[in-house]
Amino acid sequence: MTLELLHSPLLADPVDVVMRGYQVMAPAPRLTMAAWADGRIVLSPKVSPEPGPIRLARIPYAVEVLNCTSDPRTREVTGMWAAQVAKTTVFVDIPTAFFMHQDPSRQAVYLEDEKKQHVWSTTRLMEMITNTPDLAGLLSQKGGPDSKNTLEYKEYPGGRLSILNSGSEGDLASMSQRIVNKDELDKWRMLKAGDPDALADKRAQNSFNKKIINVSTPRDHNPDQKIFSRITVKYEASDKRKYYVPCPFCNHEQVLREEQVKFVGRVGDDLEDAKYECEKCKMQISHMHKKRMLERGRWIAEKPFKGHAGFWLNALYSPWITWKEYGEAKIKMVRQHDTHKTFQNEWRALPWNPLIEHDKDISPYLARREYYEKVPLRAMTHLFSYADIQKDRIEVIAIALGMARELWGIEHKIFWGEPALSSKGYLPQVWQDLEAWRQKTWEHESGETCRIARLFIDMSYLTSEVLRFCRGKRPLVWPARGMSDINSRHPFISTRPVIDKKGRYKYYQVGPNEGKDIVFANLAVEPPKHTPPLQGEGAGGDGFVSTPGYMHFNQNFDEEFFKQLLASEVGRWKKGIYVYEKISPATRNEGLDLVVGALAAFESTGTDPRPHVEALLRLWEKRQKEANPEYVQQEEPKAEPHAPRKKNWVYGWKK
Ligand SMILES: [Zn+2]
Repeated sequence: MTLELLHSPLLADPVDVVMRGYQVMAPAPRLTMAAWADGRIVLSPKVSPEPGPIRLARIPYAVEVLNCTSDPRTREVTGMWAAQVAKTTVFVDIPTAFFMHQDPSRQAVYLEDEKKQHVWSTTRLMEMITNTPDLAGLLSQKGGPDSKNTLEYKEYPGGRLSILNSGSEGDLASMSQRIVNKDELDKWRMLKAGDPDALADKRAQNSFNKKIINVSTPRDHNPDQKIFSRITVKYEASDKRKYYVPCPFCNHEQVLREEQVKFVGRVGDDLEDAKYECEKCKMQISHMHKKRMLERGRWIAEKPFKGHAGFWLNALYSPWITWKEYGEAKIKMVRQHDTHKTFQNEWRALPWNPLIEHDKDISPYLARREYYEKVPLRAMTHLFSYADIQKDRIEVIAIALGMARELWGIEHKIFWGEPALSSKGYLPQVWQDLEAWRQKTWEHESGETCRIARLFIDMSYLTSEVLRFCRGKRPLVWPARGMSDINSRHPFISTRPVIDKKGRYKYYQVGPNEGKDIVFANLAVEPPKHTPPLQGEGAGGDGFVSTPGYMHFNQNFDEEFFKQLLASEVGRWKKGIYVYEKISPATRNEGLDLVVGALAAFESTGTDPRPHVEALLRLWEKRQKEANPEYVQQEEPKAEPHAPRKKNWVYGWKK
């Protein structure tokens, strides 16, 4: 690597430093850290995927980090890095060697615990010292390697190195240091004496030319719950640099993001390949381009530099991980809570917010969609519906219900147009579209006709428009309002509407949190083992046993709908009440609201589907017989024992 390549705007040229008026009392090092380390430091096969003299051309993103670390203007360096991008080599090993040989200093390296302290000292440090000729000589100059040098302490001309344990209060109260290097900071445990991070920093407070190096993969971080990832806080306080690489096709510089990794030929958990899609020109970039992209990349800071340089890097930048390997790791790891957390921290290099549940994989739900042209035989002909009013559209769903809350999604529709009253005081066209849809009919498999028996309309937004639309349509159409839980859980639904405080209108109150409990529990119900035959031989029999709570969806429900249904909200305890909240304010969750609202519309009628469904089955059998005279009557359906009807029987099926 040539020196031009190593040029950085922060590169310390001693003359430059003096000219700019910085107070630099010690002579500046002759070489920058990257120029010094490249080809000189020898890595052990025990710690590096590429042992031998280090070649920074393989990890071009390391150059600016190293040069920034040796720059006298830098007082603090923070690395929030993924696990497989040479993090320890760049932030701990090379700086330690540099401050032994090139800019000899009093320095301390703090490791997470005693075990890591010893492993780092014996494998990483000593192997590097033994294999790197310039370093090996340093320690032996002090009358043989064993004279003053122990596992935890090394001396060299001009300085000394303490290798310390962040879990030991004694180690944190040790001598003053110029360089304090803190490895895996987010794994450090709190001590009786306080936060070991602050105690370690104190060791450097008396040095005019101190340098603090923080490095870690991030861990948990959620300011709402007073959980802080130290490395996230430090990165936020730094100048926040990210590594931009140019697209090989359009040269657009971009930060590598997981969303742009596109799977090619997925079979189960394995991929045939994965490509990186340029965020600008949308070209599919093969892994073979990565090397060149990294070489041409550069760090761009979000904030002005004030002595604290911060670097963030995820595993997509790793020269040792292909995009295919990244994609496969993601598929396997985001499935479960523990591995998803590891993936978030060590691959994405992002803190884990304990509120985020693991990504709900919607693919099984997409795969289990069915295809029904007519409303299935085991459902009532009464359909139930819920309309959600948005600024630019009305979203609506129609569902059918069978016994024991078995549910079929029949149709999901979006009517585009602003629902707010026009300047002349008319309801805009989008309301007429909704009304035309409400009047439509669907065919039932028995030959009967299905209609919407009750439509709830969310009145929390554009209340007067909703009330105007509902006028004169009772009991088929009702305004409904979701009740937030402040002191106690609001019941899902009652069979009676309430009157508003001023006695102007009636509406239904819906307890969305209880409704979401029901929907999430039902979404977890396993699909029926076999599809019941409905015609010819074998019809009847166990074909009509319901799957309590199971939710069927038709092919016309799309991926976006399932994302909004399954992955938009998360449950948490708040002041003793279990509530659901959007994962982020921008998340769209209409899918979930629609299903909950339509289920509430059904339950508000207090209907027992059993007699309806049984009557439909008898009708269907009669019609079958008429159509096919040879049709043989099968045994009576083996229906489940009829649950005694309670006052609020609908809740009996909850779990
Ligand atoms: Zn491009």
